[in-house]
Amino acid sequence: MATTIFWFRQDLRLHDQVALKFALDQLVQTVEQDRRSPDLGHHLLPVFCLPDFLQTSSWGFSRMSSLRRYWLLSALRDLSDQLAKLGCPLLICPIDASSALPQLAQHVGARKIVCEEIAAPEELAEISALRNAGLQVHTVWQSSLLSSDDLPWDKQCLPQVFTQFRQIIEGEGISPPPPLPAPSSLPSWPTTIIPAHLQLDFSQLPWQEPTPDPRSSFPLGEGEFSGGEAAALEHLRQYLRARLPHTYKQTRNGLMGKDFSSKWSPWLANGALSARNAYAELKRFELEHGANDGSYWLWFELLWRDYFRFLHLQYGAKLYRAQGLNSTSSEAHSSHNQTKFDAWCQGATGESLIDAAMHELHTTGYLSNRLRQVVASYLIYELDGNWRAGAAWFETCLIDYDVYSNQGNWLYIAGRGTDPRGGRRFSVAKQVRDHDRDGHYQRTWST
Ligand SMILES: Cc1cc2nc3c(=O)[nH]c(=O)nc-3n(C[C@H](O)[C@H](O)[C@H](O)COP(=O)(O)OP(=O)(O)OC[C@H]3O[C@@H](n4cnc5c(N)ncnc54)[C@H](O)[C@@H]3O)c2cc1C
Repeated sequence: MATTIFWFRQDLRLHDQVALKFALDQLVQTVEQDRRSPDLGHHLLPVFCLPDFLQTSSWGFSRMSSLRRYWLLSALRDLSDQLAKLGCPLLICPIDASSALPQLAQHVGARKIVCEEIAAPEELAEISALRNAGLQVHTVWQSSLLSSDDLPWDKQCLPQVFTQFRQIIEGEGISPPPPLPAPSSLPSWPTTIIPAHLQLDFSQLPWQEPTPDPRSSFPLGEGEFSGGEAAALEHLRQYLRARLPHTYKQTRNGLMGKDFSSKWSPWLANGALSARNAYAELKRFELEHGANDGSYWLWFELLWRDYFRFLHLQYGAKLYRAQGLNSTSSEAHSSHNQTKFDAWCQGATGESLIDAAMHELHTTGYLSNRLRQVVASYLIYELDGNWRAGAAWFETCLIDYDVYSNQGNWLYIAGRGTDPRGGRRFSVAKQVRDHDRDGHYQRTWST
């Protein structure tokens, strides 16, 4: 009897599940090879290990806001429904993966754990801990748009400037692999009884329904704006049906509203939507309705997302040092003034655009790309604050928190990544003139 544990991480979906397909193929092979076994069945145990919702960051605040927690739980509920329909329910485990998975593997006699690869320090440490506990863990890279195997350079030699990266990709005509269909059937669960301390049901989870806020650009709970794969695919359909890619380039620097940008990020972040699927649908849209600079620009932005992923494959933990990729240690000492930092987080700096944006971020868990740049620059350059504390606050608040994109963008603005121009400082006065001349945004989010 072969049992595999499939550990869901930031890939909470069944469509385009390269890692799950790998797990299923391996199971079939194992069963075929294991002819001596009297019982040639094979089982799959899909598991999600809940993060510690009470964990605080080294900066002293909770690592996950209630909105972000709600977003995760709704994605899990959707995944759980889909898996149940395939007869192989999701096990929600209340303890962290490094304690839970060895115990589960022992209980169900699993030989292997398969999961997606996440090239960030904490996530890599989880894999090391499992391997140190004697488990056989297979990780599968799947979260980028492009396959890392198709890149024309060794993963240690990523072009150091995004434009070069994009030009090579485009020049060589490298395109993403087509997305995989969702499996139509799954093996059954193992027959062993799972101990109660290793599972939770949804009624035991700390749900806190968000109060809808009509001002929000990502109105959680309204229409398809809810967590999980089904809502993600519906949102993608509606975005394309409304032909919004055609106007994306003109509107993408907007500050408010559902339509100025794609709003794919919250689903991409926990994997409810696969970037390859979004791209394939975008290409189909272009075939039907024509391509223009707007539809091209969505690909351009998805390449940024990839760039920060591949940067992690090359540099790993170096991206998390105070000096980032800069070599001089004198730059390591970013100051941290708690009072100024608290004022920034709470939207109480006295700078109206910054305060409005920080209110929006805290209230809704979403902020436009333009304002993410402006508030990050303000913390680093005007408040002389610590970029890593800012990144941690974004982690807490953003429902689309993605370890690669968050770290990559903060490094970029702080001038501690690969960008040769050395940081991005935005003039708040200019940003107000260019993007909120009549003060509408600032008034809307004044509290
Ligand atoms: C300081 C800072 C922190 C950020 N933290 C995150 C984060 O934690 N998670 C996250 O998903 N994005 C992050 N971003 C990138 C960007 O702001 C969001 O991806 C975007 O605003 C999400 O809205 P959207 O889906 O409507 O994007 P659109 O403008 O419609 O773009 C389409 C997709 O392209 C990708 N994309 C767009 N811009 C970027 C970018 N600058 N970097 C990487 N990918 C991009 C996203 O996947 C996005 O969903 C951050 C940006 C900054 C400046």
